[in-house]
Amino acid sequence: MLVRGVTVQNENVFREIERLKPEMISVLTELTRVQAVAPENGGDGEELKANKLLGILSKLGFDRVERFDVLDSRVSSGKRPNIVAYLDGEDTARRLWVVTHLDVVPAGEESAWTVTKPFEPLVKSNKIFGRGCEDNEQSLVASLFAAVALQHLGIKPKRTFGLASVADEEQGSNYGIQHLLGKGLFAKDDLIVVPDGGNSDGSFIEVAEKTLLWFRVRTLGKQTHGSLPGKGLNAHRIGMQVALELDKRLHERFSERDEFFDVPESTFEPTKKDLNVEAINIVPGDDVSYFDCRVLPRYDVGEVIGEIRSVLSEFERETGANITLEIVQKQPAPKLVDGNAEIVMLLKKALKQARGFDAHVGGIGGGSCAAFFRKAGIPAALWSTVDEVAHQPNEYCKIDNVIADAKVFALLAML
Ligand SMILES: [Zn+2]
Repeated sequence: MLVRGVTVQNENVFREIERLKPEMISVLTELTRVQAVAPENGGDGEELKANKLLGILSKLGFDRVERFDVLDSRVSSGKRPNIVAYLDGEDTARRLWVVTHLDVVPAGEESAWTVTKPFEPLVKSNKIFGRGCEDNEQSLVASLFAAVALQHLGIKPKRTFGLASVADEEQGSNYGIQHLLGKGLFAKDDLIVVPDGGNSDGSFIEVAEKTLLWFRVRTLGKQTHGSLPGKGLNAHRIGMQVALELDKRLHERFSERDEFFDVPESTFEPTKKDLNVEAINIVPGDDVSYFDCRVLPRYDVGEVIGEIRSVLSEFERETGANITLEIVQKQPAPKLVDGNAEIVMLLKKALKQARGFDAHVGGIGGGSCAAFFRKAGIPAALWSTVDEVAHQPNEYCKIDNVIADAKVFALLAML
C-alpha cells in the first residue's frame, strides 16, 4: 500500500537523520566558531566561514557546489561569498531551495554572555550556545543534513534540491540574496523556503511581513565645556528629546493592530547610538541615534517618513539645532504569499507527516531573505522551529530542533 510505503520511507529517513546527530552537532559548532560579521558592524565578512562550509560540503557528496562572489573592498578578502550546493532530483527542471545565511550579528555586550563566549560554542542541556547558533546555523545544518540523509539512503529528491547559504542577510542583502536574484539563479516556479524565523513548535509559516524602515537622526548643536553649557548647544539633550518625541508620535499615529501578524502592531524602536564625546565634562555638539521600525503593510512608508520629518523640523525651529534624517534601509512590505501557494501547501503536508499537526500561516516583523523573493514575484515561505533567541546574548539552538527541522526538509524534498 502506498501510504504504508510512504510511512516506511519516512521512518527510514528519520532514523538516518537521527543517526547523523553527532555529525550535525560537530558541523554546527565548527561553523559557529568562525566569525562572519558584516563590515558595517566592524567585522570582516563571511569569507572564512564560506571556506569552512566549502570544506564540509566537499566531503558530503553533493552533485554540484558553486560559489558566487560579490566584490566588497571593505573586507580583507575583497569579496562576499555566496555558496550554492545542489542535489539532483528526479525532475531537474524544477527546484526546491532552502535559503540560509552565513553572516551573523555581532556579539553585543560580551559580559552578558554568561554561558560561553559568543564564538566559543558550547553544548549544554541539549542546546548549542553561541552567536549564530539559532540565526542561522541551525537551519543551515538542518537543510544540509536533510540532503545528506537522502543521499545515504539513495533517495532522489523529487525536484533538484538546492541549498543556498548567502552573505549579508543582516545588513540588507545587497551582497547576498539580492545578487543571486539579480543573476537569475531562481526561476519563477522554484519552491523557496527561508528558515530564518518561526515559532517554538514549528507550527507557524510566515507568508507576510511588515515594511522595514531603519533611519538615522543626526543632531548638530555646539560643543562647549561642561561647566558653561550656555556657551554651546547640547546636541545630546536635543537628540534624546527628539528620539522620545519620535517614539511617541510614531506609535500614536500608526497605532492600528492586525492580528494576522505576530506582534500585531507596528513597532518603532530607538536602537543604536553613535558615541558622542570622550569626556564627561564636554557638552556634545553632535548626536546620532537610530531607529528600527517594522510597519504594518497597510501604512504607506512615505507617510511614516513624513511624520519623522515633521518632528525633526519642529525641533529645529524650537531649538536652533540642525537635525538631519538619513534613511539607512527601506524595504516596503511585498505582496503577501497566497496561503495556497505550492510551497506553503507542501510545507504544511511535510509538517503534518513529520509532526502530526496543521500549521497556520501569518505575518511577522520582516526583513529576511524571503522579502526579496516575494518582491521578485517568487512565493517564499519562511519557516523554522526556534525559540527566537536570535540577536540576544546566550543565543542558542535546541539540538532537537536541528534534528526535527532536518526531517521536515527531507520530507519536503521527497513530496
Ligand atoms: Zn537570520
